[in-house]
Amino acid sequence: MGYNVAVDGPAGAGKSTIAKLVAKEKNYIYVDTGAMYRAMAIHFLQKGISPEATEEIAHACQDANVTIDYEDGVQQVYLNGENVTSRLRTEEVGNMASKTSQIPAVREKLLELQRGLAREKDVIMDGRDIGTCILPEADVKIYLTASVETRATRRFEELKEKGVPCDYEEIARDIKERDTRDTNRETAPLRKADDAYLVDSSDMTIEEVVKTICGYCK
Ligand code: C5P
Repeated sequence: MGYNVAVDGPAGAGKSTIAKLVAKEKNYIYVDTGAMYRAMAIHFLQKGISPEATEEIAHACQDANVTIDYEDGVQQVYLNGENVTSRLRTEEVGNMASKTSQIPAVREKLLELQRGLAREKDVIMDGRDIGTCILPEADVKIYLTASVETRATRRFEELKEKGVPCDYEEIARDIKERDTRDTNRETAPLRKADDAYLVDSSDMTIEEVVKTICGYCK
């Protein structure tokens, strides 16, 4: 078994930014599980399936093969052999992932892939159910959160910097909707594991968060 650090929390809490930096500092492999749900979402979008068509989605899981690899330490995600990494981070894919990740067949599909990586390697894995479902025996569990306002502002600034037209109110609404879906779903809802450290990054710098989390880890 590798050394396992689980990081869970709501959308936009900065999990991936922080986990990548901790991975570098501690020489762990960073595993982004959201990217796997996003790759599944691309599969459903390509097939033109509506996220509400639960049975069709469950059926379509059968011919989706998601795998990951690392190029210069950066996670690459493959869907049926094709590298889809550059297509994962659009709003369309994110929304589809948020909706379809509620479906048990989708979660089952990715469970073994995630557990297998943690068995073999020292990982910091981020997602929504890592500390509660995927790696309940993780060596360290972190629940990383921030206020809706902070998360929406961060996302707004990020999009503005990229020159993507965006609206603060719409982003905040989207974040709230995702929070509601992630925390209220029946299968593997987002919640803090009892033995997770709670880190609220609303009033912390990135460096402070990284230092805090590194302090909990071997
Ligand atoms: O973290 P990210 O925004 O990339 O995740 C995309 C979607 O996948 C989330 O909205 C969430 O619903 C889902 N997800 C999940 N469980 C995980 C990781 C992501 O349900 N472990």
